[in-house]
Amino acid sequence: MFRLKFTEMPGNPEMINREFIGNPIDEFIEVYERFTSFYAIKHLIADDELHKRPLTPKKNRVCRFCGAVYSTVERFKSKAHLLPELIGNKNLLSDFECDKCNSLFGRYENDLANFLGASRAFHISNAKSGHLKFKSPDKTFIVKKDDEVSTDEAKLRVESHQEENNHFTLDAENKKVTFHTIRPSYNPHNVYKAFLKIGLSVLPDTCITDYKIAFAILQSARKNEEADNPLFKLNLYQHPGPAFPSPMVILFEKKQKTDAVPTHIVCLMFHNYTYQLTLPFNEQDKWMFDGKKIVTVPNMPPFIDKHFASKFGIPKGNRLNFNFDELKRNEKHDITCTFEDYTDTRLQE
Ligand SMILES: [Zn+2]
Repeated sequence: MFRLKFTEMPGNPEMINREFIGNPIDEFIEVYERFTSFYAIKHLIADDELHKRPLTPKKNRVCRFCGAVYSTVERFKSKAHLLPELIGNKNLLSDFECDKCNSLFGRYENDLANFLGASRAFHISNAKSGHLKFKSPDKTFIVKKDDEVSTDEAKLRVESHQEENNHFTLDAENKKVTFHTIRPSYNPHNVYKAFLKIGLSVLPDTCITDYKIAFAILQSARKNEEADNPLFKLNLYQHPGPAFPSPMVILFEKKQKTDAVPTHIVCLMFHNYTYQLTLPFNEQDKWMFDGKKIVTVPNMPPFIDKHFASKFGIPKGNRLNFNFDELKRNEKHDITCTFEDYTDTRLQE
């Protein structure tokens, strides 16, 4: 993983300079160089103590998403999160999300939770806390904390009922076990909106007015007619080995306004995933869409250090299209875990 380096700004101890440092993986050097030739870090938010900040008093709040202000009918009562709790965010709260929008986004996040499916239950934090139990829609595959261990011990119990389901494949030579399960039903368009909401939440105030269309998409119940529009597709990397310790979002901004690439790219890292989201329809990008220019969305590299990858394995990339406003049912979901060793516990007595 890349590391964050915090250094005090010379002569200004109030300001902290953040550098994102690491060595790109050989296989991704070209992608890395091309991406960083277009983009620089504009803003970085990680779920750690350093990023806790005081919230605006409720009476002074304005909703970034619908424009609501504090009133007798809108009291900003809900504890709104900057990044969803379900991806592991504990500390980052939002002071610009009204109750009405919070409940709308909660619905999108239900779809995101279903899309992530069993992978959340497999995560180390859940193995420790046991807050979450995953049960496949057909109830034959269950992941939960092992009841017989203490709360701090990270131990999961995976149950497979009905043998014909073939819930796992063991690759002993490569020390891998792949679990085969299905995701609970989800609406892909709502999953996209859950990601878009994260992206729009990390924008600095000064950029908000440039994204009127994106904010409207977030609120709209309308179907998206352009299923193939690359602006709505996400790239995903999954890396083997330990997960990111806590969620982090990086907002990248293009260096040259004259480049025919979208102004902002959002990088979201949590668990063993890195998602690349394009913030669509920035006002400042209008000139690019004149029908003559070729607009490209440069691929972002995974921010996994090459030493980490040589120890645990190379991240795998996927392209995801959430541009379907229909319920996805019984979608297959494979999760591969690596292991060090195995023991036949029946022989230990
Ligand atoms: Zn609102």
